[in-house]
Amino acid sequence: MPEKEASRRTKKNLPVCPFCGGRHIAAYLRGMPAYSEELMKAIDDGEIILGGCCISGNDPRWHCHDCKKDFGRPPVFFRNKGPQKPEDIVGVDFGVGGFFDGYHTVRIRSSGDEHAICISTPYLSFEWQNLYIREFTQKEWNALKKLLFDRCFIHEWKKLYNNRCVLDGTQWEVILTFRNGKKHEIEGSNDYPGTWDKLDRYMKKYVKEFYTVKCQLADKLRYAYLFRQDPEIYLSFLEYIKTLSDSPDQDPLKNSFAVCFVAFQEDGREYTYLDRKREFHKGDLVRVPVGNRGDETIGKVTAVGEFTIDNMPYPFEKMKPVIELAGREDHDLSL
Ligand SMILES: [Zn+2]
Repeated sequence: MPEKEASRRTKKNLPVCPFCGGRHIAAYLRGMPAYSEELMKAIDDGEIILGGCCISGNDPRWHCHDCKKDFGRPPVFFRNKGPQKPEDIVGVDFGVGGFFDGYHTVRIRSSGDEHAICISTPYLSFEWQNLYIREFTQKEWNALKKLLFDRCFIHEWKKLYNNRCVLDGTQWEVILTFRNGKKHEIEGSNDYPGTWDKLDRYMKKYVKEFYTVKCQLADKLRYAYLFRQDPEIYLSFLEYIKTLSDSPDQDPLKNSFAVCFVAFQEDGREYTYLDRKREFHKGDLVRVPVGNRGDETIGKVTAVGEFTIDNMPYPFEKMKPVIELAGREDHDLSL
């Protein structure tokens, strides 16, 4: 089997050394090999190393020509009241960041059949806004474990990577939690295992998803703000938009509508009224409702403007429509 596997692997999908990041990797061939020209060439080229006849069950599968170390042992943790295997993992925590770019975390939890992922970022102001959580599929869970053990060889990482020559910079940690509650913690500061990039790239994909989804959520928060968290105001706004034109924009926030500023003789102050059909002009005398008892009076339109819900001069739900035209300014009914 190892012989076939070794020859099947192309240079491209050979593993990367978890110790030095080296890519000059040889596969161990154990047992009694069937010698062939092809095998002899692979040995000469350093692609295969004969590992002898004794098989211990804890043998490394790979050798790195760059740092001369072996890797790819079976993924078993003997610490933490082990042995712990990949199937014993119920949690994966990943965190990376620094003083300047904040600290992102990706936390994945499994209850066996079901899994969830939670992503947090440091950029939004309230903690409850910083969290994004969703179901993590079985396929994603399998892919994550394959990445951790078959591609990153996380079970062969040291427990601490520390470059003391760099202050601040980037800190990171990975925590594996096992079914018995024990944890395997790995941390680093400006220093990384050779296969770090693979894990970092993978996790960044989820951080990116966070921002995409968060943008949608931000729109919802804006809606909540504009409509004062009152679904009835929102619905009445939608109803009103329908009366504005034959084909209102699908996005209610993009629809504009006309507002008349109306002044009364008594105090000269301006009040705002909706102009449903865009039929009034500056200088028009209009009949408008005043107060809460259904009274009507006549005022003069001093200005007409187009607004969206974003920049309305007065809360939408408190604005009433103009009733009708009472005359033009050049008529006798001047104020
Ligand atoms: Zn190496």
